[in-house]
Amino acid sequence: MMKEALFWEKTLRDNVRCNLCIRKCDIKEGCLGYCGTRLNQNGTLYTLTYGRVAVMSICAIENKPMYHFFPGSLWLSVGGLGCNFRCGGCNNSDLSHADVKRSLFKTTYMTPEMVVKKAKENNCMGIAFTYNEPTMWFEFVLDVFKLAKQAGLSTCYVTNAGMSPAALGVIGEVIDGFCADVKGAFVESYSRIADVSDVNIIFSNVSEAKRKFAMHVEVVTNIIEGYNSNEAESREIASWIFAELGKDTPWHLTKFFPSGKFKDVGATSIGILRNLYSMGKKEGIYYVYIGGIQDNPEKHTYCHNCKRMLIKRKQYGEIENYLVDGHCPYCKTLIVGRYPYQGV
Ligand code: SF4
Repeated sequence: MMKEALFWEKTLRDNVRCNLCIRKCDIKEGCLGYCGTRLNQNGTLYTLTYGRVAVMSICAIENKPMYHFFPGSLWLSVGGLGCNFRCGGCNNSDLSHADVKRSLFKTTYMTPEMVVKKAKENNCMGIAFTYNEPTMWFEFVLDVFKLAKQAGLSTCYVTNAGMSPAALGVIGEVIDGFCADVKGAFVESYSRIADVSDVNIIFSNVSEAKRKFAMHVEVVTNIIEGYNSNEAESREIASWIFAELGKDTPWHLTKFFPSGKFKDVGATSIGILRNLYSMGKKEGIYYVYIGGIQDNPEKHTYCHNCKRMLIKRKQYGEIENYLVDGHCPYCKTLIVGRYPYQGV
């Protein structure tokens, strides 16, 4: 089912400009935008993917990864087709880089009501749009989130933060948790990793999510050797987090595994990840984590004051949570986050 898109304007003759994301595609009649999800038909822009669910699962919020946002809770996790970035090492390229028009037959149509009902039936804490970039089916995500809030569910947006500021201005009202994938600090890295050059908007969107909409924000950086693994680049990200988001914003450094066009790039070594972890701590970030490695101590939460372990993370999102009302039970320091679940 095609649905008229949000955020577009007519340009020359029957061309339209899509203003949903940073690419601002100028789309000729009968053509699709860069992401393949938006079609100019007779001078009107349509979304092809409204309600077209490609993947749905129930999993722990830790998988996003979000570590200070309702730890241990289960979320209905929903993904669709398409992306406005072209990351060479994308883990979900079968969804993100799919030929959207040709892949629609693989999806299942769901209404926003059906998605919310599914989350309620399965006692989920909320609904997370993840797997592909949620902005690609913005109209659907917005409708689902509005209904979810009315139904008392929380919402989580796992994103590359490459939406337009106007789009964030609308959907920001109904997002609780914002898991932002920050791929680097420099245009050159973004360009090599994701074919993206408009980096400033990405950074300002993440800041706006925190400052204007008071979302709970966590930052994720997938460290790829030879692309964004140098200390100078990570130091820039750390100092930006410190200055713009606050030192209590969790920062996840995740291990890259060879995939997609980057299948010849080696998996990131634990030595590099630990070096960047130490640097992030030295830059003053309280909660730096290493993800993608089994049994590493850097995946647990420690009190930044007394250094004791407060949340122990096991496999499959299982946790032991020692926080009491969001505070360290030993020295009473506040550990910023959202925590309805207490005790072990
Ligand atoms: S959402 Fe798609 S069509 Fe619109 S500007 Fe972004 S890439 Fe282009």
